[in-house]
Amino acid sequence: MAYEKEENYTEETTEALTENFKEILNYIGEDSGREGLLKTPKRAAKAMQFLTQGYVMDGEEILHSAMFQEDYSEMVIVKDIELYSLCEHHLLPFFGKAHVAYIPNGHIVGLSKIPRVIEVFARRLQVQERLTDQILNCIQKTLNPLGVAVVIEAQHLCMMMRGVQKQSSVTTTSAFTGEFRKEETRSEFLNLISTKLH
Ligand SMILES: [Zn+2]
Repeated sequence: MAYEKEENYTEETTEALTENFKEILNYIGEDSGREGLLKTPKRAAKAMQFLTQGYVMDGEEILHSAMFQEDYSEMVIVKDIELYSLCEHHLLPFFGKAHVAYIPNGHIVGLSKIPRVIEVFARRLQVQERLTDQILNCIQKTLNPLGVAVVIEAQHLCMMMRGVQKQSSVTTTSAFTGEFRKEETRSEFLNLISTKLH
C-alpha cells in the first residue's frame, strides 16, 4: 500500500462515530442539541479518525520507499521527534519526544521517513511500551541494520489530569537491538541524545 499523507476519513465511519459521540454528549449531562455543540459530534468523529489513521498506514512500505545503498556504517541519530498518541486505557493523549538511532548495514533511509514511521504507530491506541517496540521492530525488519535504538519520553494526560501521580512526571521507555545491546554503543547513543549540541 502506498503511503498517502491525506487524512483517511470514510463517510460511513464518520456518520457512525458522529451518532455515537452525540450519545456520549447526552450521557455526560450535556445537550447535544445546543448551539455550541451542534457540530461537535462530527468534528470529534473526524478527529478520532485522524488520531487513529495509523491503522491504515504501513511503516515498512514507508521505509522501503526511501532506502538507498550506502557504505556509511556510523551511528545515525534522529532525536527530539515530536510524538502524539492516545493511551488505549483511557483514550487520552500521551505526548513527548522520540529518539531513534540505527547503525547502517549497507542501506540507509531518508531521514524524514523515521518521523513518519513513528506516526504510523503513534496514531493508534497505544501503550508507550508497545509503541517503542513496534517502531524498533519495523526499522530492524526493513533496514536490517547492525542495531536499532528507540527511546521515548512522554507525559500521559490520563495521569496528569486524573492526578494519580506527580503531574509533571515523564515516562521513559527504551528498546535496543544488535550493537545497541553493547554497553559502549548504548552509552554513546544515550550521551548523544542527552547532549545539547545547539
Ligand atoms: Zn491512560
